Amino acid sequence: MPPTETIFVEEGEILDIEVEQDLLDVNKKLADVNRKTFDSHGIKVINVMGSIGSGKTSVIQELIKRLREKYKIAVIAGDVSTDIDSKRLSDAGATSIQINTGRGCHLDALMIKRAIKKLNLDETNLIFIENVGNLICPADFPLGEHLKLVIVSVTEGPYMIIKHPIMVKEADVLAINKIDLAEAMGVNVGKLMRDALTINPHVRTLPISVVQGKGIEELIKALKL
Ligand code: MG
Ligand code: ZN
Repeated sequence: MPPTETIFVEEGEILDIEVEQDLLDVNKKLADVNRKTFDSHGIKVINVMGSIGSGKTSVIQELIKRLREKYKIAVIAGDVSTDIDSKRLSDAGATSIQINTGRGCHLDALMIKRAIKKLNLDETNLIFIENVGNLICPADFPLGEHLKLVIVSVTEGPYMIIKHPIMVKEADVLAINKIDLAEAMGVNVGKLMRDALTINPHVRTLPISVVQGKGIEELIKALKL
């Protein structure tokens, strides 16, 4: 085996730690304000996170189709520059608010606070927030949600879970999507689920396939909807 070398980033080398901490503290306070707003209107809020292409929009679309008789649903969709997802979601039957984050790689609590001003909260009792496609920093920014759903796809390969421990630790429910492609991808779904439970023994893991309609009812139960 050739030798490998690891370079460790020193504290303060990449950013000013104190400024970063202030930012996170302010975000957390705003998230608490958002949660109070949601609670006072009896709205349940789910923050959906995952990489680009993991199937966040498709999963939310499927949930809307199955739940639109039972709930008055709104979606807040974050995207770097397009409104493709927000159009798909309103086509599925939900009120949809688009947040263009520009260069931003995550949603923060202030963006959500602004977005909910555009919603009729008395006419809403379930909100899905589709976060920006990224498995890193959305984990650091609570938005006021009641539950975090993380979606990974078998097409992301066998190490997707162990490479994103912070996101997995934050997750309440972790759905492994596109299991119909697992064999072709050479990915062991059981192993992915065990990896997740090793990182976070409290996470509810479940295999799903949106295209085959598999695991969706189990997901609805896991989300307590
Ligand atoms: Mg999407
Ligand atoms: Zn970010």
